[in-house]
Amino acid sequence: MDSKQLFDQAKKYIPGGVHSPVRSFKNLKQTPLFIKSAKGPYLYTEEGKEYIDFCQSFGPLILGHQDELVFDKIKQALSRGWSYGACEKYSLDLAEFIINKIPFIDKIRFVSSGTEAVMTALRLARGFTKKDKVLKFIGCYHGHVDSMLIQSGSGLAGEGESSSAGVPANVIKDTLLCPLDNIEKFKEIIHTHKDEIAAVIMEPLPANYGLLLQNENYLKEIRKITKEQGILLIFDEVISGFRITFGGMAEYTGITPDIVTYGKVIGGGMPVGAIAAKSEIMDHLAPTGQVYQAGTLSANPIAMVAGIETLKQLTSDFYANLNRNTKDITNEFSKFFSQHDKLNAYQVIQVESLFWITPESEKPLTNIEDIPSNINELFDILFEEFLNRGIYLSPNAYEISFNSKAHGIDVIQQIKDKLCK
Ligand SMILES: *Cc1c(COP(=O)(O)O)cnc(C)c1O
Repeated sequence: MDSKQLFDQAKKYIPGGVHSPVRSFKNLKQTPLFIKSAKGPYLYTEEGKEYIDFCQSFGPLILGHQDELVFDKIKQALSRGWSYGACEKYSLDLAEFIINKIPFIDKIRFVSSGTEAVMTALRLARGFTKKDKVLKFIGCYHGHVDSMLIQSGSGLAGEGESSSAGVPANVIKDTLLCPLDNIEKFKEIIHTHKDEIAAVIMEPLPANYGLLLQNENYLKEIRKITKEQGILLIFDEVISGFRITFGGMAEYTGITPDIVTYGKVIGGGMPVGAIAAKSEIMDHLAPTGQVYQAGTLSANPIAMVAGIETLKQLTSDFYANLNRNTKDITNEFSKFFSQHDKLNAYQVIQVESLFWITPESEKPLTNIEDIPSNINELFDILFEEFLNRGIYLSPNAYEISFNSKAHGIDVIQQIKDKLCK
């Protein structure tokens, strides 16, 4: 069966045919590709087509598919069993490795997804401060946690409404909403609610609604105000952690959050998330503290091995090389757009090994309001054009694309050839 037939079949047994909505290619004319295998920079579909993959599982695969070193260690680990539900040394190795490289964290707890990490970080912040409200930014994504599925409503500043059915009104009331890149609004909301706010949570590099790079002074101001008010600052570095630099945006900007969440790259493509902070905060988690958190498959030994073998490769030379290759690739894309009438309305926004192709805008995009309104129609044309040339982007106008180590010089040459045709 080809992908189209498989998708029809999948819809009979699985809601919408998918286990995560973005995989359904909603808003695109193209039906989803069914992937049979993947290696290095390539995806192979059930019908045997090859694509250069710039989605890389939405970010975790910074080394590309089936990195040989990681693969070897996973095979060795498999021969020792794949879940114990008991203490093991694998998570200790990963915890030590990370904490030795990221100075502002003392302790880390592993979970199985970014969503779980955020859920725990919020509970920990509330348990620690004994306050209920959290402030989130419009355009930042923090997984499918009830209290984070909030969008701006028509009501007063700071208040929102649910972006998903099934989120109770009494959960919504404890999430305050703030636009990005607007320090005045932030101050106003903090001023009104300062005694009720446990935490401010943000993606220091918002990368789930396009790539909305924030001004460093704005981030510094948020840090300063939260500190003054005794509000915890949570950096959700599920995408940016181990990606922008090893220590994520905290290292990149020199701004230190109180709690950080990781996911994606930390597990090298296996299900891993993490919450980390100073001991003073982390020790509030059970069993030492009163904030409950648990997981049958937490710190799964195979996932821990995939994580550590991935992270060990992430030296400063590694990042320099990856970022340089990404620049070469996005330059090729820009050149290609400028030469094609149908596509010359696009710009490529790149931050290190992340990039987002979006309609041209008059000013830098820092806020969801600034995103051009024709984004979906234009993306549909772009996605199809690239697919026809054997290049697979993340399949949604608002999802960014990811480069990997596997996209080396030879692959860059292939991209040039594909764009020449
Ligand atoms: C992907 C992501 C999440 C959710 O992680 P899952 O592993 O998909 O649950 C949370 N926050 C950010 C910033 C993310 O990019």
